[in-house]
Amino acid sequence: MNFQSKKPLTVGFLDSVNMMYDRAIDLLQLPDDVAQAVRNCNSTYEVQFSVRLRGELHSFKGYRSVHSEHMEPAKGGIRYSIEVNKDEVEALAALMTYKCALVEAPFGGSKGGLIVDPNEWEPHELEKITRRFAYELIKRDLINPSQNVPAPDMGTGAREMAWMADEYRRMNPTDINARACVTGKPLNAGGIAGRTEATGRGVQYALQEFFRHEDDVKATGLSGSLEGKRVIVQGLGNVGYHAAKFLSEEDGAIIIGVIERDGAIFNEDGLDIEALKSHLIARRPLDTFEGGTFVQDGHAGLEHDCDILIPAACESVITHTNASRVQARLIIEAANGPVTAEANDILLARGRTIIPDLYANAGGVTVSYFEWAKNISHMRFGRMQRRQEEARSRALFEQIETLIPGGVDNATKQKLECGAGEIDLVRSGLDDTMRAAYIAMRDVRAEHPDCPDLRTAAYMVAVRRIVSVMNLYEL
Ligand code: GLU
Repeated sequence: MNFQSKKPLTVGFLDSVNMMYDRAIDLLQLPDDVAQAVRNCNSTYEVQFSVRLRGELHSFKGYRSVHSEHMEPAKGGIRYSIEVNKDEVEALAALMTYKCALVEAPFGGSKGGLIVDPNEWEPHELEKITRRFAYELIKRDLINPSQNVPAPDMGTGAREMAWMADEYRRMNPTDINARACVTGKPLNAGGIAGRTEATGRGVQYALQEFFRHEDDVKATGLSGSLEGKRVIVQGLGNVGYHAAKFLSEEDGAIIIGVIERDGAIFNEDGLDIEALKSHLIARRPLDTFEGGTFVQDGHAGLEHDCDILIPAACESVITHTNASRVQARLIIEAANGPVTAEANDILLARGRTIIPDLYANAGGVTVSYFEWAKNISHMRFGRMQRRQEEARSRALFEQIETLIPGGVDNATKQKLECGAGEIDLVRSGLDDTMRAAYIAMRDVRAEHPDCPDLRTAAYMVAVRRIVSVMNLYEL
């Protein structure tokens, strides 16, 4: 079972991305030849290899697509799924180009995929498969700290990144920047604090920023803050789980529904996300979860009444077949491409607001950028200044105490006294990035009153930056 509807799509994923891109091009009045140069996918490498497992050779097919090298390295995840295909990796690579430009991560766009069901293989078998795939990519500089830097995506995580990084190091023992060849690694293998939850954290920061703009909130028909908003999440994987966790624990949102592959679970009083996640990790069926009401037809859960819908599973789940029934006022695309171009228009015509994937799920690559920079600099963030900041705050508090005895309470002292560690800096950098990108989209909309939505604005910001780096045209 997968998350998508069984009904066929009328437009492929890559075409859908290009249709969205073309809207921005029209508004920017970019000449066709320049538009084409940016739109083109530079290359897609397809590889087949065999690995001896369980006594016989098993063949695997994988891809690494490089959409743009206007900045290098090219950046983007590697996914493991039986659905992987060329159209999908090319669409995802293009999204990475635009996403990186929007959040000012200095990378081109790339994406990879391996046709494999990771649940079918034991960890030691997956390690063999991953190392072999990595070997094929490393040989062609498709994993390389200065050329192409993969990261986790659907079906992969820190463990796979550690295997890939190790394979690169073995093949390039003298490369001093070897660790920067992939991001999303475990902390002890050169990762960075906060990368695992980064995409979900980015979704939270994106929503927080959206709710700071009263006029944008009003346009959805909602009001106030995130507090008490009724939220449905599709997919309780890494992104959906962290988004649901942070929004409910820190912003007072109520997660009234979670849609999974084998159905959906609803509870108007709010689902216990930790309990549900543990239930799913233990591979217990969703219908045995006691904290809510089970609904067999998970896909229909997207049409359930709520304030905010967070598709966090995969592409093309809201299409021309169900967009007219989606009730959420606000849809935030935590996955890449969950709303097709056709569905996008149907939703817009119905007055729905979409916070687009380019922006909403950019938290992952933003923190990947921090990790890559940390690896290149060979130093953990905060190492130089943390104690200096601490000493300075202490001196300040001591001075205040001499002037106003008892002037600063202990809780405030404790909070302000310690200097910023890596996790604080990562969060601050991510929050700042999400705020700045939102403001850039708003500015473009203010400049172009005919810009219909945030998605077109996101593409416009991205394309302007890419074109200026390519030095092809004065915009
Ligand atoms: N796979 C993630 C994405 O789609 C992260 C990419 C990265 O960190 O390079 O944005």
